Amino acid sequence: MDFSFTAEEEKFRDELRTWLEENLPAGWLEGKRMIPEDDNEKAQFLREWQRKLSEGGWAGLSWPKEYGGRGASLIEEVIYEQEMARVNAPPVLNIIGLAMVGPTLLQIGTDEQKNKYINKILNGEEIWCQGYSEPNSGSDLAALQTRAVKQGDKWIINGQKIWTSYAHLADRCFLLARTENTGKKHEGITAFLVDMHQEGVETRTIRSINDKRDFNEMFFNDAIAYDADIVGEVNDGWRVSLTLLSHERVGIARQTFRLQKLFSELVDLAKTMKKNGIPFIKDPIVRQKLASFRARTRASLLNYYRHLTDTIQNGKPGPEGSMDKLGSGELGQEMLAYAVSLQGAYGLLWKEDALIDASWQHDYLRSYAYTIEGGTSEIQRNIVGERILGLPKDIKY
Ligand SMILES: Cc1cc2nc3c(=O)[nH]c(=O)nc-3n(C[C@H](O)[C@H](O)[C@H](O)COP(=O)(O)OP(=O)(O)OC[C@H]3O[C@@H](n4cnc5c(N)ncnc54)[C@H](O)[C@@H]3O)c2cc1C
Repeated sequence: MDFSFTAEEEKFRDELRTWLEENLPAGWLEGKRMIPEDDNEKAQFLREWQRKLSEGGWAGLSWPKEYGGRGASLIEEVIYEQEMARVNAPPVLNIIGLAMVGPTLLQIGTDEQKNKYINKILNGEEIWCQGYSEPNSGSDLAALQTRAVKQGDKWIINGQKIWTSYAHLADRCFLLARTENTGKKHEGITAFLVDMHQEGVETRTIRSINDKRDFNEMFFNDAIAYDADIVGEVNDGWRVSLTLLSHERVGIARQTFRLQKLFSELVDLAKTMKKNGIPFIKDPIVRQKLASFRARTRASLLNYYRHLTDTIQNGKPGPEGSMDKLGSGELGQEMLAYAVSLQGAYGLLWKEDALIDASWQHDYLRSYAYTIEGGTSEIQRNIVGERILGLPKDIKY
């Protein structure tokens, strides 16, 4: 395998580096990752960041130029993720819109849908959420119960969704609803683009373990959508939903590169923290643990590169992405737990009381989501078992 980049790809990297140096919010280049605590101020800060990215031509990287993208290659997208991880760039508020809804509409949306939504997704003018998970059907997505019934020229939507990231800020939702009960779970589902500002849509924010309010319950009580809001065909939502999920490919790269950055920050922490005046980094037991993390982060990266090579050769990602997600999710969680434990009793301190930087504590608590969001570790293990190792199928109840 050749891990080097071409001169043209390195030029792309340089251009991005220069842009980041000139445009990252104040303090971010120096490692001060300041996002406002207040929810409204935080949303404003992140909207502003996306507007800047879009103006600089760094949003919707792989999208066609005619829709405001760069027409970037997969390798360029990977370089982009490497560089964003390197500087710990602020997260993108409209990540669902940019990473999933936009690419799906570009692939299978109508011209009307593209003209109406694509530009606003790119510049962050409209925030999107993804209404897939429901109480009792997260992993078993096809068991969803939210219904849409046709009445005249309208579809009337009733049901409940849960764990919907950014729904409290969202203008629109990419929603899956049952439109027919054929008895077969995967059939009779339709994908709708739903206006979140209408009567009949209610969101209730859920407070998470790290005291953030990024996800929600959503209730649909006679909410309305029209034929023009359907993506693909009526009852073809399962295929459409898989198209949307296939666009998570670069999200995995993001996790893998963040893991490399996390490891180097963990080493810095072990140099800074001391016991009896001696830095932890000199302790053989700590060194052994760090060496094991180093080997595993490297293995995760190489595994990702192997998968990337296959993806480029075959034109589409394979089930190996589940290994990447499983490995990087679990390892990230372990490294953050270790960073907190290195701080001993100080690891319990929170926000402004923290000894060094409360982001360790915050990220550790957030890391519980790594092994749940986008498919749990158990589900990834099933995919690895069935589709890579050729083991017998999971028992379906
Ligand atoms: C931070 C965060 C953000 C999220 N954002 C969104 C969002 O924006 N939109 C959205 O639609 N959803 C979102 N989700 C929901 C996420 O996709 C689901 O939580 C996930 O798919 C798991 O579904 P569940 O919670 O219903 O758990 P369940 O499916 O009920 O699973 C419960 C447990 O059983 C295990 N399990 C289930 N089936 C099997 C099996 N066949 N074999 C072995 N073990 C199994 C699971 O691994 C898990 O440990 C988010 C979740 C998190 C944590």
